[in-house]
Amino acid sequence: MSAVRSLIASRLDDVVEDLAMLVDAETPSTHPLLLSRGAAELVPWVKERWRCESATTLGDGPGAVIQVDVPGSLPGTVVLLGHLDTVFDAGTLARRPFSVRDGIARGPGVFDMKAGLVQGVHAVAALDELGVPRPSVRLLVNADEEVGSLGSRSFLVSAAAGASAVLVLEPGGVAGTVKTARKGVGLWTVTATGVAAHAGLDPEAGASAVHALAALTTHLVGSAHPSLGTTVNVGVFSGGTRPNVVADHARLEIDVRARTEAEASRVGEVLTSWRPDDDRVRVEVAGGWNRPPWSEPAPELVARARALVASLGVAFDPREVGGASDGNILAAAGLPVLDGLGASGGGAHAEHEHVVVGDLPVRVALLAGLIAGSPSAP
Ligand SMILES: [Zn+2]
Repeated sequence: MSAVRSLIASRLDDVVEDLAMLVDAETPSTHPLLLSRGAAELVPWVKERWRCESATTLGDGPGAVIQVDVPGSLPGTVVLLGHLDTVFDAGTLARRPFSVRDGIARGPGVFDMKAGLVQGVHAVAALDELGVPRPSVRLLVNADEEVGSLGSRSFLVSAAAGASAVLVLEPGGVAGTVKTARKGVGLWTVTATGVAAHAGLDPEAGASAVHALAALTTHLVGSAHPSLGTTVNVGVFSGGTRPNVVADHARLEIDVRARTEAEASRVGEVLTSWRPDDDRVRVEVAGGWNRPPWSEPAPELVARARALVASLGVAFDPREVGGASDGNILAAAGLPVLDGLGASGGGAHAEHEHVVVGDLPVRVALLAGLIAGSPSAP
């Protein structure tokens, strides 16, 4: 794949210009108008780069998925999976515009994951320009990934069915990074309703929602199992009104991560089977596993990535990470998935988000090699 690397290196300015175009179209998950403007930039650009006419949108509204197909001469279909939305609010671009300084590109969503989209599109274009045979490619891009992919997940699963490989364009880390497995994420909100009373005159008449959820917090945190990769974070705890009033309401927001299905269901059970000591406190539990654990790496894809990275002369950096992606959903659907194939850089979801421009040619070459299917291709 060193030919792809050289080709991309020779046109790095074009690649960076494409990245600027995508970053300049702000696409916060929560802003339908900007998301549709972003899609209106993305689709014609992909079709032009891929010299293809076939683009469709699956569904509508916030869960819509862009699908672009480009046929190939080899059997099978490789799915490139990405998302258009970012965690940054409208207006971030004005404060932190796209820039490249000292080989580092910045701007809202540059690392997660606009550079990944650019790399995926250029990987296919480079293979075709160099005449390297490849299977068909289906690009799937949703716009609700950062808010849990609730609307898009069924479209992703049906559009990816039967794929020979799913390559996820989420950010990497360094030049040789791939992500081979990701923890599942469970998100719950617990609300408790107790009975208010004067804390001094009449405490027995009260039933404290705060005390109940404090007990639940201790119980849940105690159910974590860090050596198995299971973590529990009660990130939000609110409730009560005054120090001298027995609290009649309280609320928790909880994030659970688990590496295996067994651990995921164990902690889910701990949460849903819990009852407060005081039966005057009513508890409601809402939520569940937003993305299932992805614990089984796809051995063939990992082996191919290892060989490709070695042939490109950089260190192989396979990672199992705590953060979930839509790769979890497609891995749970039984497809071979490799993730983290987007940009080299860091600072996802943060102000210091950045992409290492000099690593783009290696990252595109790695993707191109995985798409073409053979580490020995040019
Ligand atoms: Zn992402």
